Amino acid sequence: MDYYSILGVSHDASSEDIKRAYRRLAMEYHPDRNPSPEAEEKFKQISEAYQVLSDPDKRRVYDRGGHSMFDFDFFHSPFDIFESVMRGRNRSPRYQGPIPMRGQNVQVRVDVPLYSAIVGSKFKVAFEDTVVCEVCNGNPAITTSTCQICGGRGVFMEERRDGPVFMRVQRGCHGCNGTGLTPTSLCINCKGQGFHLIKIEHEVVLDKMSDPIRQVVLPGQGRSGKHGGPNGDLIVDFIVKMPKLEDLTKKQLEILREIG
Ligand SMILES: [Zn+2]
Ligand SMILES: [Zn+2]
Repeated sequence: MDYYSILGVSHDASSEDIKRAYRRLAMEYHPDRNPSPEAEEKFKQISEAYQVLSDPDKRRVYDRGGHSMFDFDFFHSPFDIFESVMRGRNRSPRYQGPIPMRGQNVQVRVDVPLYSAIVGSKFKVAFEDTVVCEVCNGNPAITTSTCQICGGRGVFMEERRDGPVFMRVQRGCHGCNGTGLTPTSLCINCKGQGFHLIKIEHEVVLDKMSDPIRQVVLPGQGRSGKHGGPNGDLIVDFIVKMPKLEDLTKKQLEILREIG
């Protein structure tokens, strides 16, 4: 794994180039924005590469020794990095809170009986969605106290020796997830999750189908956006289920021949 090629920058890239490349790729591969199964792994790699190449000391060590100089254990969460880099870009006195994220698209497949395809029909489609808890508004720690493990700093600094090289690395506290606070009581309504899992049902109208497959896109009907971002889309693939010829009655065969 070569950090430079992960970010698509040359070995003499400036720190601005590296930041720009990170932003572009992180926006593209953030799992909340990109539903493809490889996105999360790719997002982690981008984050790891950025954490090393954006720090002049780490970059120097990396340039000398390559990837083996680093232990993934002491990297920050890719999501924290994303937040902090993106927030830096929007730095304005009014800016507060996490950046809005678009909800994920949901793709469902509906098998359409032949008869329904000929005359049109309505179908119910369902999927699960997370909604922010209405009691705690997504902040389930009602009361907090200073984390006993890190003393409220949220991070540990560690000295690591790798051959002749000493490195000071920052490790996020596992006791408090880097926040410096531990909850002493949690929202009962969402059992401390900050959100609920709910089942969303939509009725989708299908007109007569003239092709065996039809895709209907319902904008904004997919999973809900986070932090005020827009919802994803609901994509329904209608696929006509052809009956086996031997199961058909004479009458049905006649109808098939007529429309065929
Ligand atoms: Zn709650
Ligand atoms: Zn802590």
